[in-house]
Amino acid sequence: MRCVVANWKMNLTSDEARSFCESMLAQFTPKAGTEAGIAPPFTMLSLVSGLVRAKGLQVFGQNGHAEPKGAFTGEISMAQLKDAGCTGVILGHSERRQYFGETDAALAKKIQAARQNGLLPLLCIGETLDQRDAGQTLAVLGQQLSILAENGAGPLWVAYEPVWAIGTGRRAEAEQVREAHAFIRAELNRHLGAAAAQVPILYGGSVTPESFPELLGIPEVAGGLVGGASLDPKKFAELVKQAS
Ligand code: 13P
Repeated sequence: MRCVVANWKMNLTSDEARSFCESMLAQFTPKAGTEAGIAPPFTMLSLVSGLVRAKGLQVFGQNGHAEPKGAFTGEISMAQLKDAGCTGVILGHSERRQYFGETDAALAKKIQAARQNGLLPLLCIGETLDQRDAGQTLAVLGQQLSILAENGAGPLWVAYEPVWAIGTGRRAEAEQVREAHAFIRAELNRHLGAAAAQVPILYGGSVTPESFPELLGIPEVAGGLVGGASLDPKKFAELVKQAS
C-alpha cells in the first residue's frame, strides 16, 4: 500500500479549501492500493470531509486531545474529530512537540483515544539537526517509538520526518532515509510482532513532485506526509499519481 497525506498545517480558508478539493479531484481518481488523505485545520474538517470522503480520500485531524470531554478550553476530542468526518489523526508532529510541549507519554494516551474512537493514528517521529549531528538519530527514533511497546494493538501509520528537513527545502539524502526507515521497521517488528507488517512508514520533509519518485524507490518508504507542496492542488495530485 502507498500513502500520500497533505498536512495543510495552519493554512487556507474555507473558500481556498473548497477550490483546492475541486481542482485536485478533477486531476486524479484514487486507485486501489493508494491511500490519499488531507489534514486540514479543524475549522475546515467538515467541509473537506464532505468534499473528498465520497471519492475515497481519508481526512485527518492535525491533533486531538486524549480526554473524551470536559473543561479543556481550545482542545478538540477524538470523538469530535470523528464527528467532523475524520478517518484519522496526525499525532506527535514535530511542530507540536517543539512549540506545544507534546510528550511521548501524552502521545501514548492520544493513540489509545484515537483508536477507541475509530480513528487511524498517524504518528510522526524524527530527530532535530543537533540530535543528528550528535549521532543520536536512531536513539531518538527508538525512544519516540517506545510508546508502541504498550500501545501495539490497532491500526497505525508512522511518518519519519527529520525536523531539519521540514519546510527547509533540504530533503534528507536517500541513504539517510533508507537507514531511518530500516531502523523504524525493525523497531515496529520488535514492538508489534506480526502486526508490524500492516504499518506503512511515510517520509516527510520537503517532499516535492521532483523528489518523490526517488523516495518511493527506497525500501520501506510507503509514501509521503507533505506540507508545503500539498497546498498546491496540482502538485498534490501529481504526488498521488506518482504513488499510484
Ligand atoms: P514540508 O513538506 O513543508 O517540508 O512539511 C513536512 C511536514 O511537516 C509534513 O507534516
